[in-house]
Amino acid sequence: MQTLHASKCGLSTAQLPSYILDVIDALTKAGFEAYIVGGGVRDLMLGLNPKDFDAVTNATPAQVKEVFGRRCRIIGRRFELAHVYSGRELVEVATFRAPPKKAVTSASGMILRDNNWGTIEQDFARRDFSINAMYYQPRKGIVLDFCHAIDDIKNKTLRLLGDPTLRFEEDPVRMLRTLRFAAKLNFSIAPDILEVFTPEMTQLLRDISPHRLYDESQKLFTMGHLNRVLPMLIDFDIWRQLFADIDPEISTFIERAAINTDQRIQIGKTINPAFFYAVLLWKPFLERCEFYANKGMVAAEARAQAGLDVLKRQATRTIIPRFAETFIREVWEMQTRLLSPKPQQIQALSTHARFRAGFDFLLLREKSGDQSTQGMGTWWDSYQLMSTDEKERAISQYNRQRAKSRRKAPTGDVVEAKSVSVEIEPLVKETAPRSRRERSRDRSKPERPVQMVTSGGSEIRADHPILKRKRVKRDLNQVVFGPTQ
Ligand code: ATP
Ligand code: MG
Repeated sequence: MQTLHASKCGLSTAQLPSYILDVIDALTKAGFEAYIVGGGVRDLMLGLNPKDFDAVTNATPAQVKEVFGRRCRIIGRRFELAHVYSGRELVEVATFRAPPKKAVTSASGMILRDNNWGTIEQDFARRDFSINAMYYQPRKGIVLDFCHAIDDIKNKTLRLLGDPTLRFEEDPVRMLRTLRFAAKLNFSIAPDILEVFTPEMTQLLRDISPHRLYDESQKLFTMGHLNRVLPMLIDFDIWRQLFADIDPEISTFIERAAINTDQRIQIGKTINPAFFYAVLLWKPFLERCEFYANKGMVAAEARAQAGLDVLKRQATRTIIPRFAETFIREVWEMQTRLLSPKPQQIQALSTHARFRAGFDFLLLREKSGDQSTQGMGTWWDSYQLMSTDEKERAISQYNRQRAKSRRKAPTGDVVEAKSVSVEIEPLVKETAPRSRRERSRDRSKPERPVQMVTSGGSEIRADHPILKRKRVKRDLNQVVFGPTQ
């Protein structure tokens, strides 16, 4: 073990937010050891902006609770952890961990439960990469480096602690982490990792719960280097484990969406992590729509059913939370609405909660060479910048063109201009609650008070049938969930 001077590693307390210093100070004052560890230290050393700071200590979670009282909550089953609220921030405070006493592992060697507190050396050995295993004590101005991690920082190398085969077997998610950090930090992967990172090894990801894989996929999508990691997911055969029904190829559409996501993150714009799923699953969705259309189903029904099918299949790999599922289906449904809107609904559509995401999606499709958008991406793009008068003129021009093209081709597919209402019908019908817990939560919800909903000058009551969403029963029998951890 070597003790490094923090200042020589480019670290200083001035870079640290007060919330993490407060936690370190309170633990130290109570007589415990406390360090900042993990991504926070690594990123600061690399001159990057850390996402957050994690603390580690020799105090047990119960002792941490004694120090922070009501500001602390103990969470976790596999790993018991303390969550400490410091100001408006939440700091994860972990206790030094030892190897599990009696290994509670799965058949493939995966660790399922371990709450054994240990020494700092033991804690170090359990971490994944050398660069994630440096312990920074900001008040003492030192960094404890047990494995010459500083050299890996300098050489930009990702090195697993211990034997890579064993480390991947213990926790196959480390394969995803390898690609994430290699892409995020632009590091090379150590040769001994590359040697064992085979398609057979990636099969172990089948043992990981779809919930955890969804979380990991979100980290991949939102780290700011999605475009760099996508080809790696294909090269290392991780893609097939995460996205079973999506062809392992990066279409122009996917690539543009990835670049767009990275750019948004770079300039600090928010992104909806489900958006990229909508992009990835767009092709399987269209194929499924065609499948139902060929069976003679009407277009709207085919889209609804195709959406449910595609998401249900994806959920066998990475579970998609309900809110994300609804978002994805709404973005897809918006494509039809934006492609041939009823003229009298154009204004209402442009203020719809899902307009922005639907429009971004449409424009991305168009810019990637998808001619089926018929230039409507650009049309909406200009529409938004127009004055009220210009908008009116644009709508009447659109109306005339639409009437002309309808006369030419009277059997339009997706246009259903029956009503003259300016209300937008719900984009998707809500599905039935998935779990028993969700169902009982739904039952126990107090009835919503009847409110007046105002839109475009016309008022409708909140109990109006237009706002009542019909529940579609999902057939969950075909969903195969992996074992949860
Ligand atoms: P990020 O910038 O994504 O937060 P991070 O390195 O901080 O990166 P976390 O998932 O926040 O990653 O984990 C914090 C630390 O916990 C890691 O740096 C690593 O030391 C340890 N760790 C996390 N996941 C694992 C794992 N699967 N196996 C071993 N150690 C892990
Ligand atoms: Mg972290």
